[in-house]
Amino acid sequence: MTGPAVPAAGAGNGRYAPSPSSDLHLGNLRTAVVAWLAARTSGRGFVLRIEDLDERSRPAIAQRQLADLSRLGIVPDAAPMVQSERLAVYQEVLSDLRERGLVYPCFCSRREILEAPRAPHAPPGAYPGTCRHLTAAERAAKAAVRPPAWRLAAGVTAWPVTDRLHGSFDGVVDDFVLARADGTPAYNLAVVVDDAAQAVTQVVRGDDLLSSTARQAYLGHLLGYTTPEYLHVPLVLNRAGQRLSKRDGALAGPSLWENYGGAEGLLGAIGQSLGLASVREVVTLPILAARFDPDRLPAQPWTV
Ligand code: GLU
Repeated sequence: MTGPAVPAAGAGNGRYAPSPSSDLHLGNLRTAVVAWLAARTSGRGFVLRIEDLDERSRPAIAQRQLADLSRLGIVPDAAPMVQSERLAVYQEVLSDLRERGLVYPCFCSRREILEAPRAPHAPPGAYPGTCRHLTAAERAAKAAVRPPAWRLAAGVTAWPVTDRLHGSFDGVVDDFVLARADGTPAYNLAVVVDDAAQAVTQVVRGDDLLSSTARQAYLGHLLGYTTPEYLHVPLVLNRAGQRLSKRDGALAGPSLWENYGGAEGLLGAIGQSLGLASVREVVTLPILAARFDPDRLPAQPWTV
């Protein structure tokens, strides 16, 4: 493949959806490379989305992320979608779910959720449903004290997921949050609505999000969307075996690029970590694309 493929009619898009709260680190860039390769080699288009609903998001960081991606050759087919510009869309979807009786207010604090009694085999981290059956009077009394978050009244406790790397499994679905108490739409709502809006048929992202996938696929099902193909990429770990974070200064921001000798060195190292390049080989995205096979991606984390 010698350049961005024209998306085949109906194939939809692959995507990369960074949160602009810190510069892209080595693991983020590696996932973005896999997302681009998976999209291009399957005849899909490629789009970006800036997931800036979190208050830690900064426009300047989003700009640096786009610039870093572009230095690696990762350029989207259309202007990136920006979540903070789409609040009205999320509200509309929320109203639709509310009209269908699928949303209820939740007044629980984090601590109350942790301490609430739960069914013996309830999966860790799942909301125990405390506020689901409050009476109207109980809701009114609690609403006078604190504003509620809004949760999905899920009709299932598990939903099937098929992942290109992790196989098929039934993942946990609980009454997850759709909108926070301050009115901000939750990540799980925005990501599902936006993937559909961007005609995303292939979701490639870090495997820290594998556990959210059943919730998202179920919500997409409720909204009548087609389930995308999933590929969750193993994380990059530091020498201590921890996932990369801002503290790994040498592996994020300007020092990452310096340490790897710029875009060429970085792409080479990423290609090598994916089994697509030999040591110190100079590669380009199209060279990696010609060797890429999603079924032969390393299933283990990359420790640097
Ligand atoms: N914005 C999320 C992140 O940067 C990724 C969300 C997704 O790919 O679904 O971790």
